[in-house]
Amino acid sequence: MDLASQDIKFLPGVGPRKADIFDKELGIKSAEDLLRHYPYKYVDRSRFYFLHEITAEMPFIQVKGQILRFEKVGEGHNLRLTAIFTDGKETIELVWFKGVKYIIDKYRTKVDYVIFGKPSPFNGRYNIVHPEIEIASQLPPPEQMGLQPFYNTSEKMKSSFLNSKTIQKIIFPIIQQIKSGIPETLPAYILQKFALLNLTESLINIHFPRNANLLNKARQRLKFEELFYIQLSILRLKNWREQQSTGFVFSKIGLFFNTFFNEYLPFELTGAQKRVLREIRIDVASGRQMNRLLQGDVGSGKTLVALMTMLMAIDNGFQACIMAPTEILATQHFASLKEFLGDLGVGVALLTGSTSKKDRVVLHESLRNGELNILIGTHALIEDTVQFSNLGLVVIDEQHRFGVEQRSKLWKKNVTTPHILVMTATPIPRTLAMTLYGDLSISVIDELPPGRKPIQTYHYYENKRQGLNQFISKQVEAGRQIYIVYPLIQESEKIDLQDLESGYEYMRETFPNYKVSMIHGKLKPKEKDYQMQKFVSGETQIMVATTVIEVGVNVPNASVMVIESAQRFGLSQLHQLRGRVGRGAEQSFCILLTGFKLATETRKRMEIMVRTNDGFEISEADLQIRGPGDMEGTQQSGMPFDLKIANLAQDGKMLEIARNVAMDVLNEDPLLEKNENRVLATQLRKLKTNTLNWGSIS
Ligand code: ADP
Ligand code: MG
Repeated sequence: MDLASQDIKFLPGVGPRKADIFDKELGIKSAEDLLRHYPYKYVDRSRFYFLHEITAEMPFIQVKGQILRFEKVGEGHNLRLTAIFTDGKETIELVWFKGVKYIIDKYRTKVDYVIFGKPSPFNGRYNIVHPEIEIASQLPPPEQMGLQPFYNTSEKMKSSFLNSKTIQKIIFPIIQQIKSGIPETLPAYILQKFALLNLTESLINIHFPRNANLLNKARQRLKFEELFYIQLSILRLKNWREQQSTGFVFSKIGLFFNTFFNEYLPFELTGAQKRVLREIRIDVASGRQMNRLLQGDVGSGKTLVALMTMLMAIDNGFQACIMAPTEILATQHFASLKEFLGDLGVGVALLTGSTSKKDRVVLHESLRNGELNILIGTHALIEDTVQFSNLGLVVIDEQHRFGVEQRSKLWKKNVTTPHILVMTATPIPRTLAMTLYGDLSISVIDELPPGRKPIQTYHYYENKRQGLNQFISKQVEAGRQIYIVYPLIQESEKIDLQDLESGYEYMRETFPNYKVSMIHGKLKPKEKDYQMQKFVSGETQIMVATTVIEVGVNVPNASVMVIESAQRFGLSQLHQLRGRVGRGAEQSFCILLTGFKLATETRKRMEIMVRTNDGFEISEADLQIRGPGDMEGTQQSGMPFDLKIANLAQDGKMLEIARNVAMDVLNEDPLLEKNENRVLATQLRKLKTNTLNWGSIS
């Protein structure tokens, strides 16, 4: 029987109502889906522990012994039940906050029980809250209990009695059913080459591990399979794209590019900028459509690379545009491009939500008749009224801020899809890039322009504020400018705004002789612009802001970035914010302010920030701390398939291998037509119909 077409509703212990919950909560419909719902952890029930062995780090343990007595403490809502449990030598307290009556009725003294739970330290001793209790004589001997799986469930599932235990019971008969063998999903030659466990054994052991070794092998096999199919799918898409997508040919390097390079460029390009420009040049001359991701740390000079790529387009008779995520950033791009280009004679215009109707009419016209070479703007560029005469290149800045939908609208602005250059200052760890953007070409600017002094970062507790104020004052006296950034989280916008405003008042009181600007997302664009301009021109010395200044803002004279409540920011955001300083010749500083009480993870974040300025190192650390699911950019970009068992933070090596195997397979057999690869084509089709359309990541 085909497991994929076996509706779980007919499985013993499921029925229509539970089937419905499975589907809604976990997307599980068939017996096969259920088989692929792997446990997220296992606990060792292969031995009994003694109470004297307990340490704080212990996961779930089981202990054999008896209950000595029960004791009720407190009343009403605060009622709790404790039981003193002994293993014959020592005692431990078992605690219940719920179901007190049930527990007292059910369990008694002088009976041998096996208790199972997680010990937690309490008042200098350990207790176990809500342990599982079983009668010892009714359990198989521990050697036969082995590793017990734990399955993810939701609150909703638990309230319908679909807990981990029930799931295990529901899966059990399916495992019996597959014992005679199910069709393999990897070709035999791959299984052999990497000594992988076959699918049947893997599925049996992932749910009911016979021993730790087999569990490990099962995990390896299933992880490999998962990563391999993702890579196979991405690489096929990449191949397909490279064959299918004809692109505009920018055949020549012409007058604009050369004149700019020889006469206008105010500095030498860095080695990395040159290399990336060469990579781009090859793409745009190839006759295929470019789809390139440009990664580079804040301040690495991506804008200039974008500009020079646009000049290539213009030299070949095409128009180009840049889409930026915020108005501030678009405006800034506009200003810096104008400055770079001087009187070169390139037509540049800015289009944002606050461009007036009158200006729009003129702009639309000059865009259509081709007078305008470069259009810079926010998502206002996407609007249907914006029509180019011949759009050849689209540059997208800070890519992760745009949804796939938004971006793809831009490609449609010409009959042939324009070349696409996506820029991001949030470096993505290699494993993530290979997975999320595996179908794109990737360029990396891994070198900062010369003469930059590394930003010095310090983590201060609140009580250092006096000293910090003196420091700020010194910096301003030396002619520098200061950013003070407050967190802004949607849910508590009101409170945050109060924080920001009182921070603003505090700065004005503390520094009556200096001028202070304030920017936040609730301001009208005009007002934001006005405040920003005052800071850019140096009229104000201190800028109190929310993260609206995070992206791209360039004020080279600003040398101090103070981040208030730094614990509320993620690593990549902290790094982005820090990147607002260190843009001029002076030594710059970043001060992370937090309270004393910090979670371990937060402390780690602060330490990493203090230790390194390298965005790639930071993103790698971020991946390790938070795991791939929470990394910025992953949600919108969307994984081709959800990862069920592999972990991009930990399985980088295996991912690399899986990618190489997928490449080899496709090199030998691009269309997966060979007999031994049939299974790959079939499985790929199956996986794809089960997932969203993700065909155009960028
Ligand atoms: P990014 O967008 O990558 O964060 P920018 O393009 O804003 O960085 O560049 C940061 C600053 O460095 C800008 O002021 C830019 O003019 C300057 N810059 C770019 N390339 C170079 C270079 N090769 N040498 C010196 N300065 C450069
Ligand atoms: Mg930039």
